[in-house]
Amino acid sequence: MKKWLLEKRWRILLAGFLTVALPLLGITIYVYLQVISQFKELGLEENQAFFNLAAYHLEERINNDISAGTIFASRPQIVEALKKGDTKTAGAHLRDLLQNLTAMERAAITLPKAVMFAEYPGNPEALGMDFSFRDWYQGVSKKWVPYVSDFFLREVQPRRYLFVIAVPIRDQTGEVAGVLVLQPKEDYLKNVLGPMHIGGSFIYAVDRHGDLIYHPEYRLDRIVDFSKIPAVDKVKRGITGTEQGLDPLHNEPIISTFQPVKWGWGLIMQRPVKEVFRRAREITVGLVLLAAAFLVLGGIVAYKGAGLLFSSHRLSLELREKEIYEREMKDELRTELDEHLRTGRKLAETMAELERSNRELEQYAYVASHDLQEPLRKITSFISLLEKRYEDSFDQEGVKYLHYVVDGAKRMQTLINDLLAYSRLGTQGKPFLRTDCNKVLDRILVDLDKPIKNRGAEITHDSLPILMADELQLGQVFQNLVANAVKFCRDRPRIHISAERGADGWLFSVSDNGIGIKEEFFDRIFVMFQRLHTPVEYPGTGIGLAVCKKIIERHGGRIWAESEAGKGSTFYFTIPDRQAGA
Ligand code: ADP
Repeated sequence: MKKWLLEKRWRILLAGFLTVALPLLGITIYVYLQVISQFKELGLEENQAFFNLAAYHLEERINNDISAGTIFASRPQIVEALKKGDTKTAGAHLRDLLQNLTAMERAAITLPKAVMFAEYPGNPEALGMDFSFRDWYQGVSKKWVPYVSDFFLREVQPRRYLFVIAVPIRDQTGEVAGVLVLQPKEDYLKNVLGPMHIGGSFIYAVDRHGDLIYHPEYRLDRIVDFSKIPAVDKVKRGITGTEQGLDPLHNEPIISTFQPVKWGWGLIMQRPVKEVFRRAREITVGLVLLAAAFLVLGGIVAYKGAGLLFSSHRLSLELREKEIYEREMKDELRTELDEHLRTGRKLAETMAELERSNRELEQYAYVASHDLQEPLRKITSFISLLEKRYEDSFDQEGVKYLHYVVDGAKRMQTLINDLLAYSRLGTQGKPFLRTDCNKVLDRILVDLDKPIKNRGAEITHDSLPILMADELQLGQVFQNLVANAVKFCRDRPRIHISAERGADGWLFSVSDNGIGIKEEFFDRIFVMFQRLHTPVEYPGTGIGLAVCKKIIERHGGRIWAESEAGKGSTFYFTIPDRQAGA
């Protein structure tokens, strides 16, 4: 499970991230789309509103000039001059008109059939010329209402492309008496449309053929056909609208707003896309930053969340592992405990068995030694009798044999006595009472007075403790150890007895300057009847140390020897603390 988690860690992290980041991203995109469309719409609306204003302004301007022309055309003196063929008067009026209409460059009056009648500034070449082929004439003569012409090349100097405003001149009866032709100055449209712009936008105008009438970036000394441009094509067909396209000059994305105006013209406002949607773009940048912030936030939240998830998971895994471990440990402990209990029970059984067989053995030894004593006593006493009464009857050899028998019997008696004493140790032991070891030692030193004096032994001891013990048996231990120390010595024995307080009892030591014991015999010497020497070398039965061991063990302590052959020995034994009555 843990491994699986680690393997899928990044996937989980990604899932967490996506869970947090995707909704945020979704919201951002939704807001973006909403805001963007709103702002685009706003941009376009702003465009349209301004454009309407520009179109209105242009129409107003031309209408004003048409009105001025119409008022002029209705002057009775003009009609009169026409009728009289008075070109001079007509010319003077035209001059007067041009002085008022500063946007006009030239004004002319033709006869009803488009023959040039008068012109200002005067141009003799044109006088009498028939202009009926001109669009302006065909336009104005259709219904005899004012007409704004297409773009065309002027006949007279300076030749240039231009449009004209044609206004019919009527007499009092309403009859058409002529046509007033107003030729705007070259910068007419520039003055009207040039200032009309917002930001990087500009407005251009086309005539009903799609030829440019005004464009801020074109010098119109020729016909510039814009009819292929989609916006122009639409406006030509009388369609109003907005569309996105490419600037024909700079290949830059643009928004074109187009609208047909009176007289069959079309106005097109062109504005760079980036400008129209500038605010939308600004908002986009803001939203992208916001989205990025959301993503980062999502990432952090996912990371932290996953971290939390992992740590809690790890914690639960660790807890589970711990639980399993504890359960295993408990099981193990239980098994171990069962094992111990079983072993304990077995041990107790073995102990009981051992005790029983020990008791039996002691009983047996006791009975055996006790029962053996009687026949042995008989043998000893009768051999003594035999020796006393018939010693003289035996030859020297016989006497020697008799001695051997007496000696063997005595020795056997000693052995049996020792064995008896040993077997009684367990059964005839006294309860442990407060025992002053100094007194015990003093008593046995009195008992051992004879061998001590014989050997001239020097015996010293520290102040010994008072402790809970079987006084008689403790005395036996001291007696055996001191007697051995005196016995197993070739020089004058120097013996020291000391006691030292341990953690839970007393440690006694009896050291001598005797013959010492080889290390390999350290254990053997405590076994019953085990001796390292013959009775001739050192008398004894080999039971002393076995007795000591049994007594010390009865007191719950331990006995051992430390020695180096020839350098004396030290016998140690411990007596653990025991409460009175225990
Ligand atoms: P016993 O003294 O009758 O021989 P013990 O059981 O007292 O029997 O001693 C067993 C043997 O341990 C002795 O025969 C002797 O060889 C050795 N031993 C005991 N005490 C000493 C000692 N102080 N120095 C050297 N050897 C000793």
